[in-house]
Amino acid sequence: MVDLQRQYQRLKQDIDAAMSEILQATSFINGPAVELFAKELADYNNAKHVIPCANGTDALQLAMMALDLKPGDEVIVPAFTYVATAEVIALLGLTPVFVDVYPDTFLISVEEIEKNITPKTKAIVPVHLFGQCADMEGIMAIAQKHDIFVIEDTAQAIGADYTFPDGTTRKAGTISHIGTTSFFPSKNLGCYGDGGALFVNDDALAIKLKMIANHGQRIKYHHDIVGVNSRLDTLQAAILRVKLPQLNDFSLRRSKSAAFYDAELKGFDAISIPARAQNTSHVFHQYTIKCNTFEREALRSFLQVKGIPTMVYYPVPLHLQKAYTNYGYTQGDFPVSEQLSAQVLSIPIHTEQTEEELQYITDSIKEFLAANNLN
Ligand SMILES: *Cc1c(COP(=O)(O)O)cnc(C)c1O
Repeated sequence: MVDLQRQYQRLKQDIDAAMSEILQATSFINGPAVELFAKELADYNNAKHVIPCANGTDALQLAMMALDLKPGDEVIVPAFTYVATAEVIALLGLTPVFVDVYPDTFLISVEEIEKNITPKTKAIVPVHLFGQCADMEGIMAIAQKHDIFVIEDTAQAIGADYTFPDGTTRKAGTISHIGTTSFFPSKNLGCYGDGGALFVNDDALAIKLKMIANHGQRIKYHHDIVGVNSRLDTLQAAILRVKLPQLNDFSLRRSKSAAFYDAELKGFDAISIPARAQNTSHVFHQYTIKCNTFEREALRSFLQVKGIPTMVYYPVPLHLQKAYTNYGYTQGDFPVSEQLSAQVLSIPIHTEQTEEELQYITDSIKEFLAANNLN
């Protein structure tokens, strides 16, 4: 699905040098590269503060801890997303309130958010799924009206731009109270292990997040609040410092692959190419088609035989996951998410694809469609 090997070979000289520097210095925890990377990412994103942490799931947890959410508080999340988003809500004793998504863009539905606001609602967690931003204009308006927090899960959309009606543009993750992201190797800005970060503009909130990520202390061995241990390794920060200047190029390369796929795969009733949401750029963490009129598994195995990997993100919506049955949801509650779980198929997209490889993939999909009279 991604080719980390080829990307590494392309950046090898700089990455090896950066890692070697850390190995020589043996500053493995909280070395200077961590703060330098945080500063550089803040500059890139135009965020006032970037707080590095151990992974994207921790980033979500730290965000909810910093907002002082209490057991019983409701947090609205899309039913169609990666589990991490809802997991930390459940873990903290908060109540995940699932809502449906839009069938064409897969993004959280603003109308469904509005319908699910109650006096207990304390936060909304929009997920910028597959690389484009949720309707932040609509979501921030609801949040303001009801005085609730918004935490953007930007694990899949780092570098995406959201444009407001007045023309101002902001980077994904910097629009709401707190943004969270992940540097998992296959993410758009991936390190060589686990990593994550938070984006925040509020100074007091930034201090609090830093404290929570560091055992609740500002001064060593003085613990003012209960925290956790969540750090970005210096080695990972050093790798990310090499990759961050490449992020726009990474996004461009992914967009080029997506444009190729669009041109080749449009116009078939049997499949839908991914729709573009309004007011947002798309950094194509995934290129996800929908299998409208045939069994997805048939296409998957056809492509597998040809050496083309595919993935289903996500085969089961969160409200139907075993771990979340105690919240009382059933089949039929979120028809769009349920249908998407049955129809979506993500095909390879990354920074190293050649036109020949892309052509082989689209030719193979078309061969399948023709063989099954799905023109
Ligand atoms: C990857 C991902 C996360 C979690 O990130 P980790 O670094 O793996 O903990 C959270 N939310 C979404 C939408 C993701 O894709």
